[in-house]
Amino acid sequence: MNASHGLKKFMNAVLFREIWNAMKVTFKHMFHRPMTFQYPREKRVIPDAHRGALGLLRYDDGRERCVGCDLCEVACPSRCIKVISEEDKSLPLQRVATEFYIDITKCVFCGYCVEACPVNALAMTKLYEYSTHDKRTLLFDKKRLYDIGEQYMDDAKKYLYAHNQEKDDHESRVYRYQFPEPVHKPNTS
Ligand code: SF4
Ligand code: SF4
Repeated sequence: MNASHGLKKFMNAVLFREIWNAMKVTFKHMFHRPMTFQYPREKRVIPDAHRGALGLLRYDDGRERCVGCDLCEVACPSRCIKVISEEDKSLPLQRVATEFYIDITKCVFCGYCVEACPVNALAMTKLYEYSTHDKRTLLFDKKRLYDIGEQYMDDAKKYLYAHNQEKDDHESRVYRYQFPEPVHKPNTS
């Protein structure tokens, strides 16, 4: 170690140069806009295309959109959807999902189930706060999925538009909202 290096080290120690350097960085960042959020007091603005918890949707008149076709179950790469369906007794040839489960602990939020659904009965929402101590509560059943769909209907619609699943043109609306046409029992009286 030569003399000038030793002197420099001595002066740095006497003048607390490392502390001043650290303070310089601190002062510089005091005038920057903070990058962090004080969660949960502050929440981020979630984009419309965000893939959050799944929900089941109803038509405007309250009817369930899901026709129990199982396409979402087949499309799911994580095998976390289970649909149990049966024929609607009042409407021959039309099926309904009697039970519907999504194990959200296995979901990878790929959105394939939403894409596969022919009637836009499934959509993703901006809901991400469902952490729990009991893993069993993360097996979403039909009621919970419809509750999420009802509570986050606006998010779900925005998701479908953001992913080009929902279109404004008449043909798409007829297909998504009216398909399949209800098959009424013939009037035999
Ligand atoms: S988002 Fe993907 S992983 Fe999750 S339920 Fe749908 S298809 Fe399965
Ligand atoms: S959510 Fe859609 S794809 Fe899944 S069973 Fe219902 S209608 Fe079929």
